[in-house]
Amino acid sequence: MIKYRLICSQDHEFDGWFAGSKAFDAQVADSEIACPLCANTDIRKALMAPSVVTSKRSKKHVTPSETVEQVQMFMSKVRAHVESNFDYVGDQFADEARRIHYGEADEREIYGEATLDEAQDLVEEGVSVAPLPMTPDPSKAN
Ligand SMILES: [Zn+2]
Repeated sequence: MIKYRLICSQDHEFDGWFAGSKAFDAQVADSEIACPLCANTDIRKALMAPSVVTSKRSKKHVTPSETVEQVQMFMSKVRAHVESNFDYVGDQFADEARRIHYGEADEREIYGEATLDEAQDLVEEGVSVAPLPMTPDPSKAN
């Protein structure tokens, strides 16, 4: 018998005992496992922190600096995607976003600079804006 920590699509965690991992997979596939809290059958194994600690450090241990690098890599990918696919409108962002929202300009994806106040005004008007993670760009520094 094997015990799994399970989680449903509503993020309810519970334990289940199974004959083995194949038995578990089969029962999930047949929707035989239901969450005890919400009866959801969309069940998966919860990620568990290692319960056994050895004196040897795992080589896969993620150090804080690696995490920062991964975040920066992700941010620069997002930025690269936006820069190559979106229309840059500079500090006209708020005006242009509003014109697109009200149908006065061509519907397209734009990016540019907006102050926090401008962004808040846009959100209040129902214009969808999202902050873009920007890595510092030395060429644009004043
Ligand atoms: Zn549930």
